[in-house]
Amino acid sequence: MISKQKYMFFILILFMIGTLIFSKVDAITNELPLLGRVIFVDPGHGGRDPGTTYGKIMEKDIVLEISQVLRDELMKKGAIVYMTRETDEDLSSQWDVRKKRGDLYRRILMYKKYQAELYLSIHINYYSNSSESGAEVLYNPINSENKIFGEILMNNFKTSLGSKRKLKRTDLYMYQNTTVPGVLIECGFLSNPNERYLMQKKDYQQKLSRIITDSVITYFNH
Ligand SMILES: [Zn+2]
Repeated sequence: MISKQKYMFFILILFMIGTLIFSKVDAITNELPLLGRVIFVDPGHGGRDPGTTYGKIMEKDIVLEISQVLRDELMKKGAIVYMTRETDEDLSSQWDVRKKRGDLYRRILMYKKYQAELYLSIHINYYSNSSESGAEVLYNPINSENKIFGEILMNNFKTSLGSKRKLKRTDLYMYQNTTVPGVLIECGFLSNPNERYLMQKKDYQQKLSRIITDSVITYFNH
């Protein structure tokens, strides 16, 4: 026979262990709000395709740098992050008749293959008028989640970067041919002297990445 005291003591120990486990799990989910989330960071262009250019400054190089910083930020929050490219390459094959289409098609295939929960396509804008500025988000309505995430991110660009731009729709091939949720992010204008300078700076790349990461956390909590 177990005495009543021993029984109560046993219950108390069990209760304490339970509380400890729950507070530990709570602490992990607070520190790692993206734990286990599969996210694709997609630096635009690459290889033969430089994207938009200003002299020797190329979109493909800046978006790769921003994407690497963004990958690290997302991973710090617990996400499983894949990138469509990690070097200066395009994803087309030598057999593709239409190289650009082949490149974009393979990016979409990767999202599917790795069961991505969200993709973030990183690009840079250009406009003939150099006073145009501001980070911008574009989405395709193929998945209703795209607009939800797009609004969260665009609002954060407005409040944290002072962007005056609006959430826009895109019907580009890549975005209307994947049902995986995600958006196209134009980080700023290469044609604007101030943003051209900032987007090449590590601390600004970090700022952008934090805003995007915070928006991803908000999105997954909605
Ligand atoms: Zn681009």
